[in-house]
Amino acid sequence: MLRLNIAIVNFKGLFCLLVVMPYKFTFDLSKIPRFFFKEIAKVSYQKGMHKKVSRTVHEVIRRFKIQEATGLNFSDAVLLLEDFVEIQARNLLERDSFVQTRKRALFLPHCSRKYMDSRCKAVFDPNIPSYICAHCSPDCLVNRAVSFAEKKGYDVYILPGGSCVPKILKAKHYEGVIGVSCGEEIKLGGEIMKSMGVAGQAVPLVKNGCANTSFNLETLFDLL
Ligand code: SF4
Ligand code: SF4
Repeated sequence: MLRLNIAIVNFKGLFCLLVVMPYKFTFDLSKIPRFFFKEIAKVSYQKGMHKKVSRTVHEVIRRFKIQEATGLNFSDAVLLLEDFVEIQARNLLERDSFVQTRKRALFLPHCSRKYMDSRCKAVFDPNIPSYICAHCSPDCLVNRAVSFAEKKGYDVYILPGGSCVPKILKAKHYEGVIGVSCGEEIKLGGEIMKSMGVAGQAVPLVKNGCANTSFNLETLFDLL
């Protein structure tokens, strides 16, 4: 069934209905070298063309054999990588504002927990709303991200969905937020943060699917 993410965003006094289309395909880019993502962002940004990247994206998809590595068809690969470029470009554009912030939070997706069932010992607190990691599995991505970010002074939230973002931002008044999630949730969260004057940085999932998803820890550690 087609799922839509819908949010009401207050932008300069105007309430806007934001509808974000989720991907209609699953992907796993975890075997693609991290260099690839940096390269497409760097090239696009340097050429000032992150809004018009089609030709560049087509070239790098062929050069890095993305279709062969992921099984995605060409148009899905283009859509996905155009979103990656947009996310990386926004990170670069907002980096200076973000580094000046003092009160920061990290939003992690619940789908990257090692377990999605009772083997995950995290407790969900609906009042925040967030899972609280119990650190039951040393090799859990979320566990490693939580531990690292908390040492860096971040408040960390493990969110069941992007709809939790406005509630937390209204309650806590963060100046800067790093969000980890799939591209469609990043777009939704990015618009909400922009409307609330919060400087954002984002790490896109390299494997989606709403369970057993993954993101690149080194990319996150660099941003933190
Ligand atoms: S380490 Fe944390 S998030 Fe990961 S499975 Fe255990 S309690 Fe859940
Ligand atoms: S992949 Fe994860 S972050 Fe994206 S919609 Fe599914 S549960 Fe949310």
